[in-house]
Amino acid sequence: MASTPAFSEELLAKYEPVIGLEVHVHLLTASKIFCSCSTRFGDPPNTNVCPVCLGLPGALPVLNRKAVEFAVLAAMALECRINEVSIFARKNYFYPDLPKGYQISQYDKPLAEFGFIDIDVSESKITGGKKKIGITRLHLEEDAGKSLHEGFADAAHKTAIDLNRTGVPLAEIVSEPDMRSPEEAYEYLTRLKEIILYTGVSDCNMEEGSLRCDANISVRPRGQKEFGTKTEIKNVNSFRFIKQALEYEIERHIGVLECGGRIEQETRLYNANEGKTYGMRSKEQAHDYRYFPEPDLLPLVVDEKWQAAIRASLPELPEARRQRMMNEYGITAGDAHTLTLTRALADQFESAARTAKNPKRVANLVQSELLGRLKAQGLELEQSPISMTGVTASADLVELGAISGKMLKDLYDLCFERRQDFPAVYETEGRPEQSRDTSALEKLADELIAENPKQVEQYRAGKKTMIGFFVGQVMKASKGQANPQLVNEVLTKKLEG
Ligand SMILES: [Zn+2]
Repeated sequence: MASTPAFSEELLAKYEPVIGLEVHVHLLTASKIFCSCSTRFGDPPNTNVCPVCLGLPGALPVLNRKAVEFAVLAAMALECRINEVSIFARKNYFYPDLPKGYQISQYDKPLAEFGFIDIDVSESKITGGKKKIGITRLHLEEDAGKSLHEGFADAAHKTAIDLNRTGVPLAEIVSEPDMRSPEEAYEYLTRLKEIILYTGVSDCNMEEGSLRCDANISVRPRGQKEFGTKTEIKNVNSFRFIKQALEYEIERHIGVLECGGRIEQETRLYNANEGKTYGMRSKEQAHDYRYFPEPDLLPLVVDEKWQAAIRASLPELPEARRQRMMNEYGITAGDAHTLTLTRALADQFESAARTAKNPKRVANLVQSELLGRLKAQGLELEQSPISMTGVTASADLVELGAISGKMLKDLYDLCFERRQDFPAVYETEGRPEQSRDTSALEKLADELIAENPKQVEQYRAGKKTMIGFFVGQVMKASKGQANPQLVNEVLTKKLEG
């Protein structure tokens, strides 16, 4: 947990945080960026390696075309301008997980620049507006290996190395320092991950390190133009922790400045258990990477024709899809948000909605009946026992008046109990139908008419909407079990008669 604020709200409000984020995502290619080794996660250590990714002398890199296409696709989804010519560069540093002694990356001529993501900020709930967060650049690079500190003999006093990850393609996405609060950073990351997932170029799995984030943070007195001195928070493995680490770091900066101190430019690590950041290396120890163009690779040329071919495979992106779905199915913004959480879910909903008698009812059922049950059992929407086809089937039955809302709830409960989809449970339960026996309904209707002469009079005087009052009363008396259509029929007959 993040520590509780040590300062008053007034003091915190005196300062403005400035946040920029660097995100690395693994690209889902089958082979590495400069050799044909597999990128599969979880294989035995040091089994997916060759002279190229081990950095043996004389081995030469060959660029993976698919990695370029995935990076360009991601850059397009992030509204970047693609540079027709980009240059690979060597980033030199010494570290045990980097066998070559340099990482092949891109430096002054990156693959793509000048993109943005629109995020919802707290004000947008009032104004409906969005905030644009600039994306400085997206470039291609290779990942390094992994130091292992557990899971082998002597782990207590030795570090082992796994080079399977060495050479896995990465897209590094660098934002402008446009974020002004940890909430905005969280929102940016959420939208970024969503967009990347929609393009399908990465699984963005943070546990497996397919998405990693470093955050740059500084504070300045509100109204001041110049940025304050920044610190960098590295290797935080969840968006929630990044938000907490930023909250901690903002207060730490303000604390130092308020005491007349100076922020040291340094890299810090976040300890999630303690909710604190710790200095890792200061600027004096920071690397001079001595970048220079990679002599073993030609400039990367992605010409207009290639760009157009890649652009043709760009899917409809989440925000555009939400807007379209709201228009097309008459669903609310909240419904659209839930139903587009993943591209697969949105696809399922849309294919179900096209056959549904009332798509809006399908969306409503997801919100009102499905999500609560999933939450209660700690399940994600994609783990739901009731599929989108199942939700549609149930929605149609309610729409036709074959089952009541109450019956639907009971059937959903059974689905969750048995972990079975709706159509299977509906069959097993013998295709239950709500009663069409009118004798009980007629009795209820007679009673109501006798008890409410005023309303009857109004109805008969021409105020036909008064039927709603009677329907409501009957539904209430039947505890939601009655078939509304049937109730309507019976009541109309009685009232007209
Ligand atoms: Zn290799």
